[in-house]
Amino acid sequence: MREDFLLLNPGPVPVAREVREAMSEPMVSHRSAEFEAVYERAQDHLDYVFEHSTPSGDSTSSGGTSLMLNGTATMGMEAAVANLVGDGGEVVSVVNGKFGRRFARIADRYADTTRVEFDWGEPVDVDAVADAVGPETDVVTMVHNETSTGLLNPVEDVGEVAGDADARYVVDGVTSIGGDELRIDDWGVDVAITDAQKALAAPPGLSAMYVTDDVKPDLDGEAAPFYEDLDWHLRKADSHQTPFTSAVPLFRALAEAAARIREEGMPDRIARHREQSAAFRAGFHEMGLESFPELNETAEYSNTLTAIRLPAGARGDDAAAFMDAVNARGVSISGGQAHLGGDIFRVSNMGQLTSQQVLRGIRTVGEAFRE
Ligand code: PLP
Repeated sequence: MREDFLLLNPGPVPVAREVREAMSEPMVSHRSAEFEAVYERAQDHLDYVFEHSTPSGDSTSSGGTSLMLNGTATMGMEAAVANLVGDGGEVVSVVNGKFGRRFARIADRYADTTRVEFDWGEPVDVDAVADAVGPETDVVTMVHNETSTGLLNPVEDVGEVAGDADARYVVDGVTSIGGDELRIDDWGVDVAITDAQKALAAPPGLSAMYVTDDVKPDLDGEAAPFYEDLDWHLRKADSHQTPFTSAVPLFRALAEAAARIREEGMPDRIARHREQSAAFRAGFHEMGLESFPELNETAEYSNTLTAIRLPAGARGDDAAAFMDAVNARGVSISGGQAHLGGDIFRVSNMGQLTSQQVLRGIRTVGEAFRE
């Protein structure tokens, strides 16, 4: 792989040299003091990310625990739902893209699930969510940044609906946390989940989760899959370990990546992500391309990834040739997922991109269209 290959897929994202090097240290036992120090360092910096993701950097949580799982965010999503409704319950899942749908499919395995469903790319109608949520609802699931469409969903408004019904609120912040604002207490979030390989800019393989103190008594670890017993994970997290063998090199890499976020500071990091996604969007518009989806004033575009409609000539069966032309120039971007394949392309600005890399991404897409 050429050293200057530029990954602009919405995860995995480019990983800094220091983060990669952290993975090549001599192996240690996951029960050693050395590993506990790695876990503690990662956890401390993740606490910062989960609790200070605002433009001002103020604290957003009155208390909770960050923990890491050996397994990507899909495991985290399942763990959260299963521990909250393990023996059966009622879940309302908000679906307006692939990852909202995934959350609902996970919930189907553990609970009676009601989908509040919109077309992919259609903004969430909060009144429709309020109609579906009631006193019997145990859990509401919501995706903050819908990676399949580039839409930022109204986590705060849906959190109010969940809170009014005394339902627990589980938020997939996989492509927002570490790059955009997320307010735990103000938005009524009980469990927030992210992936290592997205805006945290670490290698793939781990997920990170924030569990508020308030929701902990509602967890029923014994009703969840053995590997995902969150009561057990939380007990172990307090002593900076995991219940089972930790993926030691990945924890080291995540600790280093999270330390780099702390160094930049969430206010600067959020501002940079907002500027870079705006730059991508403006650059593509300048070429005459259109954003996907078309938005009314109640909806917001993502600040961490940009979805663009493929123009005639690069759509459908011709999309593959366009993607190949981008790739041949040393840049990787993503197409649309599921039925959006051949309709859109997606570019991420999650993690540590420089302005030069953003410009290179825009220029490369322009060249590939002209080919
Ligand atoms: N949720 C969102 C919003 C995502 O973008 C992704 C991955 O792209 C996931 C969940 C699931 O991630 P994984 O496949 O890493 O488990």
